[in-house]
Amino acid sequence: MSNEAKVLYQVKGNIAVITLNRPKKRNAQDLDLIQQLDACWERAAEDRQVKVIVLNANGPHFSAGHDISQTAMDQVEEVDWNGGGEVVADTYHYEKKYFNEYCTKWRNIPKPSIAAVQGACIAGGLMLAWPCDLIIAAENAKFSDPVVHMGIGGVEYHGHTWELGHRKAKEILFTSSSVDAVTAERLGMVNKVVPLDELDKEVMAMAEIIAKKPAFGLAMAKRAVNRTMDIMGQQNAIEQVFDLHELAHGNCLAATGQPVMVFLDGMKKATSEDGKS
Ligand code: ZN
Repeated sequence: MSNEAKVLYQVKGNIAVITLNRPKKRNAQDLDLIQQLDACWERAAEDRQVKVIVLNANGPHFSAGHDISQTAMDQVEEVDWNGGGEVVADTYHYEKKYFNEYCTKWRNIPKPSIAAVQGACIAGGLMLAWPCDLIIAAENAKFSDPVVHMGIGGVEYHGHTWELGHRKAKEILFTSSSVDAVTAERLGMVNKVVPLDELDKEVMAMAEIIAKKPAFGLAMAKRAVNRTMDIMGQQNAIEQVFDLHELAHGNCLAATGQPVMVFLDGMKKATSEDGKS
């Protein structure tokens, strides 16, 4: 891990604020950022003073997703699951550990969390916002997952169907289109849409209201909703779809020698259109 602070952490009263801090890269997530982010979630989970966790992002965009300049070979070096340099196996274990298991852990921390989203929230960006309990979006927020361009059926953590409903989930995946903040609110993925310059204030106001409540009551309310979703099959479905995602990596690898197809021109076009501030 480098010493560069790609994620910032501060506590304000009973509220921990975790801030993605790689704005020049549109908060693209390399492994450093993901590990720093996980350390911040752990710290907030363990700190008894912290009752509410806010996740926000510096710069015009929440997150452009995973940093695809990190190659499959980086993943092999990081995991090297059975010492044999098996790229499919290494990719599977890398993505399971650093993507899905982290998302699931953050989702289940027994303290309410709020994501504050502005600008682009693309692919892996969704995997940072969705595990939060509430999402407050600036009016300019746009949510998308264009990875079908790469021959993959969607990002590793399949929140799409749960968050957007099955029709809209298919539409954004098939067409690589984005969902704007108002549509996301109407579909139930976003709690509230606010003007960009009021995003911080609105998020902290919501966090303050929640932080006044008893911690165990909050933990039980969160668990009630999460367990209901689990019983409806959410976690099982996410794990099943993760395996489909890995199957697609294997297919790409067999076809091209790379774990993603190289339709990156289309991908870049889709993300840069969504990334316009
Ligand atoms: Zn993947």
